[in-house]
Amino acid sequence: MPTYSEEELTEALAECAREPVHIPGAIQPAGCLVSLNADLTRVLQVSSNLQELLGISVDEALSHPPAHSLGEELITRLGTRLTADMGKMVVDDVLTSAATGERCRATAYRSGSRVVVEIELLGPLGELEILITVGHWQTRLAAQDSEAELLQVLVEGVRALTRHDRVMVYSFDSEWNGQVKAESRSDGINSLLGHRFPASDIPNQVRALYDINPVRSIPDAKAKSLPLVPKQCPESGEPLDLSVGNLRAVSPVHQEYLHNMGVAGSLSVAIQGDEQLWGLVACHAMSPLTLSPASRDAAHLLAQMAIQRFQRLRLMSQQRFRQRVQETRVLLYETREELLGAGDLVQRHGHDWLTLFRASGVGMVYADTVSRVGKVPDVDILKKVAAWLAESQSRAIAWHSNVLGETPLGEWVSPQCSCGLLAVPLSVDVDRQGWLMLFRDELRETSRWAGRPEDIPKMKNGRLVMSPRHSFEVWQQELTGHSAPWQEAEVLAVQDLGEDLAIAASASEIFNLNETLYQERQALAEANRRLERLALTDPLTQIWNRYRIETALEAELNAAARYGREVSVLLFDIDHFKSVNDRFGHEVGDRVLTLLAQTVWKALRSCDAVGRWGGEEFLVLCTGCTDEDVMGLASRLLKAVSDVDFEEVGQVTISIGAACWKPGESQTDLIRRADKAMYQAKQGGRNRAEKSE
Ligand code: GH3
Ligand code: MG
Ligand code: MG
Repeated sequence: MPTYSEEELTEALAECAREPVHIPGAIQPAGCLVSLNADLTRVLQVSSNLQELLGISVDEALSHPPAHSLGEELITRLGTRLTADMGKMVVDDVLTSAATGERCRATAYRSGSRVVVEIELLGPLGELEILITVGHWQTRLAAQDSEAELLQVLVEGVRALTRHDRVMVYSFDSEWNGQVKAESRSDGINSLLGHRFPASDIPNQVRALYDINPVRSIPDAKAKSLPLVPKQCPESGEPLDLSVGNLRAVSPVHQEYLHNMGVAGSLSVAIQGDEQLWGLVACHAMSPLTLSPASRDAAHLLAQMAIQRFQRLRLMSQQRFRQRVQETRVLLYETREELLGAGDLVQRHGHDWLTLFRASGVGMVYADTVSRVGKVPDVDILKKVAAWLAESQSRAIAWHSNVLGETPLGEWVSPQCSCGLLAVPLSVDVDRQGWLMLFRDELRETSRWAGRPEDIPKMKNGRLVMSPRHSFEVWQQELTGHSAPWQEAEVLAVQDLGEDLAIAASASEIFNLNETLYQERQALAEANRRLERLALTDPLTQIWNRYRIETALEAELNAAARYGREVSVLLFDIDHFKSVNDRFGHEVGDRVLTLLAQTVWKALRSCDAVGRWGGEEFLVLCTGCTDEDVMGLASRLLKAVSDVDFEEVGQVTISIGAACWKPGESQTDLIRRADKAMYQAKQGGRNRAEKSE
């Protein structure tokens, strides 16, 4: 039974989150610090160890102009080079240690209205060696083609540079728990590979510091921190913000944490992702380890190189996935002669989708048809799920969960059957609604935590305070009821697939309608109206739909083969359209699509055609164009679109991929080339056109 109340615990947690780690009023003894006023004419604060490093007493430094402690040369350089927006300025070699005559590095940065100078020993001459080592590891990083191997090379490279006993890369999950993804360690050091570290190990305010200063070095976790003198700035009365610096003192809670983990010295390097902190390179030394500033920088550089390569590998694998989805989409149309119904399409392609989307079952409810492939809930349940989705979800967007048990659907779908669902609406027109559903099995995982992920409150001076956990004993947790999460690329891809499926299905429906209604003349008129509406025109944008533009393309390619005519396609996709939806809502998104489609339609010559290829992708078919004409047309379209005022959304741009048909080439290959070119246009900065060679 806990001996504290809920309120005491809440207050202790809040207190912990408030700890002002950026203004400790002290530094680590790995160097010394001098703080100056903005125009560099007065020394405001110094660290108490000034005498040891610079040979000048605290009183002497505080009562003389800055040049007395730091030398004329450094002050002059600071005066000319330390601009307002500059992060950190590093000057090597202008100061020497009074005690040993060793060379020092000065690092200067702005902190509010003050200029802070930190001085550290440069360490033994080894810069050339470091440079060569970095060069070697850079080459190795660049040669890695898998994410796992890349991270492994990173930890080995950092350990070669810094000589810590254990170097790990850990990445954060959506709740900020860390998991060790790669590790390199000396003999006799226990492995933490695969272990999880709870989010509470790095409080929010500490995580925020990594955005300001990506490198945190603690050469000796037990070393006593040295106070600044005077404690507060004599001009403003405020404490000095040391976030940007290297020497910031270690908070007592963190000291205790490292001690409990048996770590005597540490170095952490932040790895920034696209939008937020992706993870950390964490280095542990079992006895204090002094790092030269240059090897610290080198470790940072290596981490930056690795993350760039990492992001590139991610992008490449997403691109490969896109390509595979594209191929499946094309397949839906290649079987068009047979005009398969929705159910038959699922039966024919369902198994491929299982592999492609790493799913365990595919279900579809479309009008009266229910289709199932693989491990899928019963027909009745599928219908209930579809009804719930139709009622509660938007008609345009996929819905997904990897813990169905925690959603209302948990009532019908048991974890034994499925834990994950990715569902996409199939709606070609308002009368025909349905859902394509991909199910995923439970993923049973044993999560190994480096100690129980709980903060331990304890009493201190009669108050409850948080203290870091004592135990780093492995603690295993069985994770149940969830599937592998759905990746964003998968969600987007299944949306495209759903759209194609709906259109293909309705084309066959029309065909069948025509057949059965052939004798009933009255009904035929109605059926034909639907035929026109569904099979030829995109209901939202009122331009040709995919079925129609593909049929036209096929006819053109046949004619081109026969008469040697030129045929080209322009495939284009709206840039950053997701953010239009996110910022203004789907209805505005829909209006943008419509206006944009109409704009392109009007900008074309009468012999060209445009159709909605899917989502916010369009295909322009142009005949009798030379290569240059095609790029000319592409530029006209770019301009026509960017000239339109899309009301609250403002300007919208597109990226175009062009491909000119080569004799003998299949439709699939032609489109694939255009798609590749479009991808290059996206990569090249968007709002541009690229042509496939
Ligand atoms: P990029 O420049 O890389 O193309 O970025 P993007 O944001 O446009 O990314 P992407 O092409 O992957 O995303 C397309 C988005 O378009 C996702 C989807 O929600 C949205 N979308 C697709 N069809 C429709 C639709 O009919 N209406 C609306 N409002 N949005 C749609
Ligand atoms: Mg797109
Ligand atoms: Mg887009």
